[in-house]
Amino acid sequence: MPLNTIETYLQQLLPGLGVNKMREITRLVYEITKRDGLTPAQLFPAEKKWNFESAKTFLLKKRYPVNFATAARNRFYLPKLELDPAQRADLTPRPFYPKTVYIEDSVQESELAARVRALFPQAQFKLTDGKTHVGSPNFSKRLETLLIHREKYDFLKPCPCSCAAAGCGYNLINLGFGCRFECEYCFLQQYQNLHAVLLPANVDEFLAKIDTAHFNKGPFDRPRIGSGEFTDSLVFDSITQYSQKIVPFFRARPHLQFEFKTKSVCIDGLLNAGGAENVVVSWSVNSSKITGEAEHFTPDLSERLHAACQVARAGYRLGFHFDPVIIYNGYQADYARTVQEMADTLPHEKIAWISVGTLRFSRELKKMIETRFVNNTILDGEFLLDFDGKMRYADAQRLEVYRFLVPLLRKAFPETVVYLCMEDPQIVKAING
Ligand code: SF4
Repeated sequence: MPLNTIETYLQQLLPGLGVNKMREITRLVYEITKRDGLTPAQLFPAEKKWNFESAKTFLLKKRYPVNFATAARNRFYLPKLELDPAQRADLTPRPFYPKTVYIEDSVQESELAARVRALFPQAQFKLTDGKTHVGSPNFSKRLETLLIHREKYDFLKPCPCSCAAAGCGYNLINLGFGCRFECEYCFLQQYQNLHAVLLPANVDEFLAKIDTAHFNKGPFDRPRIGSGEFTDSLVFDSITQYSQKIVPFFRARPHLQFEFKTKSVCIDGLLNAGGAENVVVSWSVNSSKITGEAEHFTPDLSERLHAACQVARAGYRLGFHFDPVIIYNGYQADYARTVQEMADTLPHEKIAWISVGTLRFSRELKKMIETRFVNNTILDGEFLLDFDGKMRYADAQRLEVYRFLVPLLRKAFPETVVYLCMEDPQIVKAING
């Protein structure tokens, strides 16, 4: 439903409403008509006399049928609706081929720079002394620019979940910024301010820092170090070949474990590097509806599981992340099918851990998702402002997800650690006892 159709209808229905009140009503009507496939007139009959309070209460009840009666009113987030067509995601399938490649002066002789020159001969190459003037003002055009640089600061850090949610002792190394997939919920859409793909050429320096670092091991037997916070760990591995350095490094340090986190099936580098018991390759998994409709350009579940079986045969262990779990009509049956496919396909003894987390996002990201993916369904659920300023499903709905999915996973994979990720400690306690 075009936004101006809604605005025109509401101006007739509620003439004289102030700007802020009209914004709230417009958003509610937009979200409900989009979710339910209604016109504004079907939702909001003109025969009835409406004022702001009666209209807002009526719409909140419709928009939040599960939580309206129990959630405080200030937990319903109703910002101005801004749908900028220029920001819309380009969902045309295409290979990754940057138009412009910037190479930082200090790494122009690096192996990575040489490989990129050979792989993208049609690109325009430019030398740069930093990150300024690199990239597009529009996130949707980020894949047009590639920057090969020397990472100077952001080598290694504790996982941010340790601050307010239940920490899992995870440590992150930052092997790049930007991704060529288009997951509708991806936080990079709102977080990445340099709209390009950044790949560091100095991975050896990252690895050298690991030998002198002190790690928190959390509830696991060994400290876990992972990549994949600001990019998918393997999506660019055929270009970067980071796996060729990382796997032998960790194979020689069995007191640590390293995790690649991916949705890709770019596993040739891993297969060439040979396996390592303390290197875990983790796939994000989801229901087939979500992988098909909200994770654009990613391989489907069966392809991911097939790749997982191959790397397990090569000697790696496996991890899986049900993240983000998204609530919709029939979600339980769909997620149960995913668990069943995993149980039927995977070598159980190779699975090191499985995490579960429900969809959460910042307020800014909500606006980015709705403008980039106007047909998304992932925002149709009931998200409330939560303890840390993020938007989440209400506690009762998250508990419903975990009470369904965690026992199912523990039954299917009794030898595997199943844990909640980025969750409120009270929720973790309620699930784990
Ligand atoms: S795979 Fe990860 S980094 Fe890439 S778009 Fe999806 S959520 Fe973002």
